[in-house]
Amino acid sequence: MIEVEAQLADVLAATVPLPSDTVPLAAAHGRVIAETVTTRYALPPWTNSAMDGYAVRAADVAAASKEMPVALDVIADLPAGTSADPRILAGQAARIMTGAPVPADADAIVPVEATDGGEERVIISAPATPGVHIRRAGEDRQPGDPLVSAGSRASAEALSALASAGYGTIAVSRRPRLAVIATGSELVAPGEPLARGQIPDSNSLLISSLAVENGAELVDVVRVSDEVSELDAALRSLAKRCDVIVLTGGVSMGAYDPVKELLSPDGQVHFSKVAMQPGKPQGFGRLAEPWVADDELGPLVFGLPGNPVSAWVSFLVFVRPCLRALQGASTVEDPRLSARAEIDWRTPPGRRQYLPARIRTTDAGVTVSPAAARGSGSHLVGSLADANGYAIVDASVERVYEGDVVQVVRLVSDVDARL
Ligand code: AMP
Ligand code: MG
Repeated sequence: MIEVEAQLADVLAATVPLPSDTVPLAAAHGRVIAETVTTRYALPPWTNSAMDGYAVRAADVAAASKEMPVALDVIADLPAGTSADPRILAGQAARIMTGAPVPADADAIVPVEATDGGEERVIISAPATPGVHIRRAGEDRQPGDPLVSAGSRASAEALSALASAGYGTIAVSRRPRLAVIATGSELVAPGEPLARGQIPDSNSLLISSLAVENGAELVDVVRVSDEVSELDAALRSLAKRCDVIVLTGGVSMGAYDPVKELLSPDGQVHFSKVAMQPGKPQGFGRLAEPWVADDELGPLVFGLPGNPVSAWVSFLVFVRPCLRALQGASTVEDPRLSARAEIDWRTPPGRRQYLPARIRTTDAGVTVSPAAARGSGSHLVGSLADANGYAIVDASVERVYEGDVVQVVRLVSDVDARL
């Protein structure tokens, strides 16, 4: 058996980041930014008003009060978007709206609330000091200041900063092209009636949806029987069109395990036993001849175990970091939190447990309980509906007791993640 870290290290060592495309900002949301970008022009670009009110010379109104208001002539009206820069002499003011450039002669803004709102003459009943309610050009960012870095996520916030700093496009990594092949002669399409022995193929949906959440572009999702020839045909049709192919099922020691039977002899895909539960049997490698020409780089292939909880955990622990690394993300592993166990649960001897879990954030901190009420079998696909993350329990622990602190990963779609 090998450790999870060793298997993940193999995966990441074989993962070559994909090239980037420059796309309009609106098309970049959720993708990984592929260039480090500095601010193109000052933010804000002009010195502008922070309030609706009047642009004044502060000296004119330094002594204004309710009892001793000051009257000024209003000589201009400055809405947001205006380019006007009217002269303002002593005793004069310009009506100004939030965001409009402040005239060079003015050095303070009096909010409309401290005035009578006059249009030709304004009565000001509060003092102003120089600079008040003025947003200075460049106070947020100066041209050349760092803005976003390569490997970060094009979040809503990053996109708004990029747009404000003068950009209309951004380089983002190409989406990994990914296909899912579910293997198993027992599988039928979701919603189909079941003959004895058949089950709905849930892994296709599970893995393809997770892949999309992690930035992949789906090339195809196919279901094949345990006939090796069917799997072979599917690989032939997909090999040249994919960066990653995720297979589920058929990687164990059974008599009808086509993935292992077809892919292990060529030596490019390795089948390992990893010290985790679930997810012990793992296949990983790069597809080569005869599916890919000798001089071409074939897709990365994951052979995940077929049990749905095993496939889920295996995707999260191995495929997800690979997809992030393909996209050049600076963070490929999920952040872990400490959580208090809400109840006791059993753990497998000698292997690290990855338990589908319900993670709650309460006033008292983060808590965790198993998603499956009745044990932790890797076939308990119904329990996945209650999982919003997983708990990681060290191989040396024999039982988790209520109140123990355990490590958890709370799942967030990468498209949403501000990693
Ligand atoms: P295998 O890894 O092929 O030995 O499959 C292990 C278990 O997972 C068996 O009970 C399969 O029926 C089940 N299984 C395999 N593939 C899928 C799938 N695509 N959807 C749901 N269950 C599956
Ligand atoms: Mg099978």
